Amino acid sequence: MENNQLDLLIELQDLDLQIRNLEAKKAQVPREIEAAGLGLQECLRGLESLKQQSEQIEKERRRRELDVEEVRATLGKIQQKSSEVKTNKEYAAMMAEVEFLKGKIFNFEEEVLALMEKAEEKRAQMLLKEEEAASRKREFASKKARLLQEAEELGKELADRRRDRDSLVLRVDEKLYQSYERVVSMRGGLGVAAVKDGICQGCHLRVRPQLVVEIKSRMAIINCSHCNRFLYWAEEPVTRRQEAMPGGGKGV
Ligand SMILES: [Zn+2]
Repeated sequence: MENNQLDLLIELQDLDLQIRNLEAKKAQVPREIEAAGLGLQECLRGLESLKQQSEQIEKERRRRELDVEEVRATLGKIQQKSSEVKTNKEYAAMMAEVEFLKGKIFNFEEEVLALMEKAEEKRAQMLLKEEEAASRKREFASKKARLLQEAEELGKELADRRRDRDSLVLRVDEKLYQSYERVVSMRGGLGVAAVKDGICQGCHLRVRPQLVVEIKSRMAIINCSHCNRFLYWAEEPVTRRQEAMPGGGKGV
């Protein structure tokens, strides 16, 4: 039984690594979706800010237009009263007031024009931003759909690997399995390690030569005396050949 059991543990570890890898990839998907939406979020914030700036400019323009109306009304009143002016001095004072108010109107009207130009500029910027937002929205939607599809495929693969694991576990000796699980949880997920050149590949410490002989012969299941991982002999020539093949020699 021992020989076969060690192979099962190696297979189990391979499945566990695949499962963990798939879980990590799947957990990454929501973050990737969020990251994919950042550009769009930024663009929408920019659009909102432009809208607010536009509204501000519009408000200022209306205020200036009211100012113009107000000063015009004052000017009208003064001009109506011009017939009541008796002296040159009064006339000069009135003319000075009229000039002053006309200057004010001129300045306000200049401001109105400048604000209208500014509003036009903002409108153009908003149009560009709206176009950008629309294309970013489309881009994000297709990226999100692709990522969700990917997550679904990862989920299916994960379910398959978990099923494989469940049926494999049924074939592993129960005590051995418990022991494997203990080592896995103690050793950061890696419960089985190869011995290469007399070194445990899990903890990189030397394995006693006598144990190496036993591991090689597969007479018993041996645990590393340093890290407690289950040890197997990595037959170098075979391993090298596997590594040379595409898809071969993948991580155990
Ligand atoms: Zn070790």
